Amino acid sequence: MKFNQLLVLLVGGAFFLAMMSLYRMLEMTQGVKLPHSETPAGPEDNDLSRLKQQIDKLERLLSDNNRLVATLRDSLFSRQASRVKGVAANVSSGSAHSQAVALPGCRLAEEMKDGADGVQLLDVYDLLPFDNPDGGAWKQGFEISYKGDEWDEQPLELILVPHSHNDPGWLKTFENYYQDQTKHILNNMLIKLTEDSRRKMIWAEISYFSKWWNNIDEQKREMVKRLVKAGQLELVTGGWVMADEANSHYFALLDQLIEGHQWIQRHLGVKPSSGWAVDPFGHSPSMAYLLKGAGLSNMVIQRAHYAVKKHFAQQQTLEFLWRQNWDSSPRSDITCHMMPFYSYDVPHTCGPNPAVCCQFDFHRLKGGRASCPWRIAPQPITEQNIKERALLLLDQYRQKSRLFRSPVLFVPLGDDFRFVESSEWDAQFGNYQALFDYFDQHPELHVKARFGTLSDYFGALHRRLNAAGTTLPTLRGDFFTYADRDDHYWSGYFTSRPFYKRLDRTLEATLRATEILFSLTLAEMRRFHGDDRLVADFPTSKHFQRLTAGRRNLALFQHHDAVTGTARDPVVVDYGTRLFRSILNLHQVLQSSAHWLLLSDKSQYHHDQSKPFMQMDDVMSAQDALPRKMPLKLSDEPRSLIVFNPTEQLRSSVVSVVVDSPGARVVDAETGRPMTTQISAVWAEPSRASTEHFQLDFVVELPPLSLVVYHVTKASVDSAHRAQYTFHRRGNPPAVQSEHFQVSSPEGPEADAPLSLSNKHVQIWSSPETGLLQKLQLRSGLLRRVQVQFLWYGTRTQTEKSGAYLFLPGDKGAQPYSSLDPPLVRVSRGPVFSDITSCFQHFSHTVRLLHLDGHAGRSLEISNTVDIRSEVNRELVMRLVSDVANSNRFYTDLNGFQMQQRRTLSKLPLQANFYPMSSAAFLQDAASRVSLLSAQSQAVASLRPGELEVVLDRRLQQDDNRGLGQGVTDNKLTASLYHLLLEDRRGGAQEVGGASVEHLSLLAHLISLSLSHPPMTMVTSSDSQVPKLHRFLPLRSSLPCDVHLLNLRTLEDSQKAESPSQEVALLLHRKGFDCSSTPDVELQCTWSVHEEVNLADLFFPLRFRSLRRSNLTLLREDDEPESARRQQTCLRPMEISAFRVELD
Ligand SMILES: [Zn+2]
Repeated sequence: MKFNQLLVLLVGGAFFLAMMSLYRMLEMTQGVKLPHSETPAGPEDNDLSRLKQQIDKLERLLSDNNRLVATLRDSLFSRQASRVKGVAANVSSGSAHSQAVALPGCRLAEEMKDGADGVQLLDVYDLLPFDNPDGGAWKQGFEISYKGDEWDEQPLELILVPHSHNDPGWLKTFENYYQDQTKHILNNMLIKLTEDSRRKMIWAEISYFSKWWNNIDEQKREMVKRLVKAGQLELVTGGWVMADEANSHYFALLDQLIEGHQWIQRHLGVKPSSGWAVDPFGHSPSMAYLLKGAGLSNMVIQRAHYAVKKHFAQQQTLEFLWRQNWDSSPRSDITCHMMPFYSYDVPHTCGPNPAVCCQFDFHRLKGGRASCPWRIAPQPITEQNIKERALLLLDQYRQKSRLFRSPVLFVPLGDDFRFVESSEWDAQFGNYQALFDYFDQHPELHVKARFGTLSDYFGALHRRLNAAGTTLPTLRGDFFTYADRDDHYWSGYFTSRPFYKRLDRTLEATLRATEILFSLTLAEMRRFHGDDRLVADFPTSKHFQRLTAGRRNLALFQHHDAVTGTARDPVVVDYGTRLFRSILNLHQVLQSSAHWLLLSDKSQYHHDQSKPFMQMDDVMSAQDALPRKMPLKLSDEPRSLIVFNPTEQLRSSVVSVVVDSPGARVVDAETGRPMTTQISAVWAEPSRASTEHFQLDFVVELPPLSLVVYHVTKASVDSAHRAQYTFHRRGNPPAVQSEHFQVSSPEGPEADAPLSLSNKHVQIWSSPETGLLQKLQLRSGLLRRVQVQFLWYGTRTQTEKSGAYLFLPGDKGAQPYSSLDPPLVRVSRGPVFSDITSCFQHFSHTVRLLHLDGHAGRSLEISNTVDIRSEVNRELVMRLVSDVANSNRFYTDLNGFQMQQRRTLSKLPLQANFYPMSSAAFLQDAASRVSLLSAQSQAVASLRPGELEVVLDRRLQQDDNRGLGQGVTDNKLTASLYHLLLEDRRGGAQEVGGASVEHLSLLAHLISLSLSHPPMTMVTSSDSQVPKLHRFLPLRSSLPCDVHLLNLRTLEDSQKAESPSQEVALLLHRKGFDCSSTPDVELQCTWSVHEEVNLADLFFPLRFRSLRRSNLTLLREDDEPESARRQQTCLRPMEISAFRVELD
């Protein structure tokens, strides 16, 4: 197409869009008008506020329009530029798709489609036979040979790295481990490292380290600082915990890293440079991304599939540059060392033969508590045996060294909770020092050995690589699903203890919302006084401590035995209690922040701990109970409801409360405008409605990060639309008790007709027998079969059965769920939402359609409540069976940060084809994509084309021999929540060829955001005289739809501990998105073609007094100088950007 034609097209498009916007503006202005039958009292006041609201709205629209025009101008310029450069701008007759390709979020995916360099793990999986032959001494590997003269030129440089793996909770609670083991380890470390400057140690878990620090005196702290400065003690990774990488969400992964790094900076003044993750059960590139972004250059990982380790050992690629799938540059590269053998203990780290290596674990000397299972005990090193011992050990070192490209060899020395007693320090350090001295005295052995840290090792490695002029190979992909031996795949823990995996995300959403509102509150307070003072009565420090405790409890739960569901029952209760208390404490912070922000007259602010001004409307009664809505007593006096929108987008939502009256009226407190409402039954039993309580739902439009006030009053019974119900049950129609609702039970042929619901975007059909979904159709005409099924997995009949870690389902696979009694199916229809609920013995399942404009009406909300406490060795799954032709390809997210392609392989056992899902999975073919967006982590698989299944809960009576020593039988009543989204694909490729990089669509991103961050509802106390409240609108317009406000996190004061500083961490994540489903003009947000953005513009009218880009953990030394072009900065797609800001 000629450029002139393109210009005409674009200008025409701009004109059309402008006209559409004007039209929409008009429509919205009119929409504000009240239906005349419901004009409230006080006309003058209301007229004024209505006018004000209209002006506000127009202002917002104008600003949105400016952006839109800017976007169009930008795309015009970029096209012009590409034409000038002679780059083929592949523009086909102005299709929306080709326009979309120019956007950074999807340009990325297009770039990667040209083929990426380096090793792609998916290709390795296609290649490997997974035949598990016996490799001899190194069972899962091969015989390693060497001639003996390999080190004549360049001696073997050996670095032995002492470590102790301290789980912050597993068989014992965090506190008990600390008292029984950890504090002794650290106390002894101080003594034993000081004794000899050649001794070294690494430490990873800052949760333990900071606790110990609080308990030691200033003199000891000085000793620690000296050891750190001398390089004898190195803090590695520096996270609060050694985090799980499968179930954890990137918000929490980053937050626990920030918490740890900030602690280290404050108390030790250093920053970690190497990562250490030896126990997480599989590894994710999202973690590699965060480590790199936090300023680390190297990392060590351990638990990868034994067949992958063997292959990498053969190829000498156990050390590689780990690169993100979506990165076409080396920007995300981080040097990664993968341990070659089975475990991180001494028997599996000195070399390939554990029977030999175990003899060099001097903690297992005869007479001690530990011994070698290979039945050859270690001997203390003496003058008599030193030659034989040294040569035996050197042989292992030399064999191990053959698996790597450089002559530097990394050998860890440690295990779980090691170096507890003083004698163990002496045994390990004394005997190894004797061996090292022997090597030194025998130059003909060509080996230099010393104690070291990770920095010592990687420093030596990089020096050797540089000297040789070589670099490491590049690798892309992830290390799921882990198998440590045979067909023992660790896919069980993707689901174990699902109740707590859900609670984890509830705390995460609560923490983020509270962080943002707290930061905005402090900024508003400073601005209010005009002199940086805070409000005297506001419990600033107390709240900051609550926030810190919430951060640290969420951080603790990211530990690889916590969110994984692999701790002992009492430890699980300890974690659950921490999560539960944190949620309650954060609610206090949220409530008093909202209280101050909302008051029209700030002088009326008064904080009274015993009489909170407002409460959350849903309450959790215990750490293992699902939240419940607190019933509101209604009267003629208005009750104030405050709704916080924690997302950075203007959104249409449904707010749901429980009230004591079947008639209720909700108005916008400021304008008096009545809200669209629906009254539904609260079902005490599947077919018995409560006579006391009723569910009141109303539709709200919430500006980004706003607090909006609504008034709810009791009203006549016909004041709100009431839901209508139909009940179905095969053969046995239920007796329904519901005095306030219209109920019918169809009979005859009518009862056999499929159930159908629709809104203006989508129509669904469900089975009249089970109520379960069968197909859905979009307004575009796209029709897809998507059948919901429930199935059971059992476990093997052999001795080795499924447990907390392992999924060993046996040969039969899944069996259809069946129950003696047909399910009760309840269909409700109303103006706000309609849904179908199927009540089975072990679960109830609801599919709901919202009758909303905007993206909220585009997907189906699916919710399950599951109770399998009556079962033995069973796992319940929900399966979607569709006609999407995805062959064996599907996509799952990694930590909610990125999507990863999966290939279902028949050469692998069933349990190997399950993957972790934190927030999304999808199937696609050339015409359509079906996405399941999830509010919690669990296992997912696509075992046959068109299928997608998630594991809802698992109950397993036995241990699976990985040290836990118990089954998982503490099941609860457990909730899970999803959105199912069907989308048209235009220009989407068939699922063939190499590994493609795919992203969620913009629409899916927005739905996922809404799902993970629902509006939070608070109610004022019923007896309080409510002062005048005014809505809080911090942002003039939504952020661009591909920019996510990950956090606005108040940093600790560097002078005054446990107090907030004026500095805030602004964390933004620019999403990559799919371009084959066209960005829709109906989306209410905008996007830009440029990576450059102006933050002042994005966050208007919030102002930044200062703004510096920093690393992801906000380490001061990584701050960039403040840019000359203030507030103008680059947000690259897929990347998280961190800024240290002061809000004005
Ligand atoms: Zn561990």
